[in-house]
Amino acid sequence: MNPAKNVAVVGGGLAGCEAASVLSKNGASVTLFEMKPVRFSAAHKNPDLGELVCSNSLKSARADRPQGVLKDEMRLLGSLVVDAAERSALPGGEALVVDRAKFAAALTKSIEAFEGLEVVRYEVTDLREMLDGFDFVVLATGPLTSDALAANLAGLTGEAGLHFYDAISPIVSAASVDFSRAFRASRHGRGGDDYVNCPLSEDEYHALRLAILDAVKVEPRPFEEARYFEACLPIEIIAARGEMALAYGPLSPAGLRDPVTGRRPFCVLQLRLENAEGSAFSLVAFQTRMTQGEQQRALKMVPALRNAEILRYGSIHRNTFVDAPAQLSADLSLRKEPRLFLAGVLTGVEGYCESAASGILAGLFAAARIRGVAIPQPPPTACLGALHRHVKGDLVPGRKKRPYQPMNMNRGLFPEFQERVPKAKAPEVLHQRALGDMKEWIESLRGAGLLLPIR
Ligand SMILES: Cc1cc2nc3c(=O)[nH]c(=O)nc-3n(C[C@H](O)[C@H](O)[C@H](O)COP(=O)(O)OP(=O)(O)OC[C@H]3O[C@@H](n4cnc5c(N)ncnc54)[C@H](O)[C@@H]3O)c2cc1C
Repeated sequence: MNPAKNVAVVGGGLAGCEAASVLSKNGASVTLFEMKPVRFSAAHKNPDLGELVCSNSLKSARADRPQGVLKDEMRLLGSLVVDAAERSALPGGEALVVDRAKFAAALTKSIEAFEGLEVVRYEVTDLREMLDGFDFVVLATGPLTSDALAANLAGLTGEAGLHFYDAISPIVSAASVDFSRAFRASRHGRGGDDYVNCPLSEDEYHALRLAILDAVKVEPRPFEEARYFEACLPIEIIAARGEMALAYGPLSPAGLRDPVTGRRPFCVLQLRLENAEGSAFSLVAFQTRMTQGEQQRALKMVPALRNAEILRYGSIHRNTFVDAPAQLSADLSLRKEPRLFLAGVLTGVEGYCESAASGILAGLFAAARIRGVAIPQPPPTACLGALHRHVKGDLVPGRKKRPYQPMNMNRGLFPEFQERVPKAKAPEVLHQRALGDMKEWIESLRGAGLLLPIR
């Protein structure tokens, strides 16, 4: 790598630390800008890098869970975050749970040990200034990017290209939907059989509405002023507007006829394809602040979803992310400003490990650019590639018509198996396939002369 290349990594969180370490390992001169302790977001408290702002769990470590597979891949990729987590681990059953202060201290120490990597405590507010001062910039300022920088980024992406809230509906696995209690159709016969319609009787509807109203909700945090768009209201807000508000709104049966009864159902919860393989469906217009347990309870009240397996829960919270499929190239650089790479939650991934993994990927893409080599995209059969397909917008059919929303690591992101795999064997096969393909990809990185931080 040309040692004269200077890179600014902005944001010393999970993604920023990973990106900085990959770039530094590959010979770049890296300046990591972190605004703490000069300025703290409303959720950050610890001046160290890599602060976990909420839960101290990095989720499952089991090899038969996508979250566990992701951790195994990150180990292969020399992840500093997984290394720091293992060094600060607490007993947590099957999850990788950490002492958050020790975790942040361990990560900070690892970063400070890199020669040629300088940590500067400074709130970046002007990306143009960064681009003028450095050859490349990696932006990883996370969901609570400071206001001044978010406004500056919106100037680059255009207001419509940057979002400040998630309003997410649950996603369920296709295998868990009872299709004998549902029918496929589009409203008014327009659009083929694209939707799966889960009918509810009048009694079932009223029971569901009451359950939604009574459900425990996740309270907004002080910095999450409830600013909902009328077109994207949480279902509990609609439910509170009147007895029939849901039936005339998101659960409307308009333009649908149940082929079993030959009649229009009382109301319908629609499911929409979430991936091209057809292995996951999202609930249409069912964004909610209900707690996870309450979401499970509510879904069980819909006959076709009685045994639904929720792959991703609904949520509504403050977030900062770009419309990645529209704004980013396949190497995570901004289309309008190719010297600027994005990483972490800003790209529309969600979760601690997902953000860190995105940082590794952005670091590798930036290092490859500096080196002047092309590297292949990560394999979609591995967690890293599956998540990246989401960021590129490759997964969702008809994506252009649908707003881009953040995604965590879940089974619905993987391509289907080519061969027949018994259900009980599927997690093991998926794990083997992911790690095998990841190792091959890593060999291709080595072939291109790239190095990984820990090895
Ligand atoms: C309130 C909240 C709670 C969450 N809880 C969880 C959870 O429990 N589990 C989970 O898996 N995920 C959770 N997430 C989602 C996400 O996984 C984490 O936010 C994760 O830390 C994101 O990683 P990141 O590297 O993208 O950003 P961060 O880890 O937030 O890192 C961004 C860094 O950039 C710095 N920064 C911001 N603006 C500037 C600036 N202008 N100049 C310089 N530095 C700047 C910040 O101080 C911060 O250190 C939560 C998100 C939020 C908002």
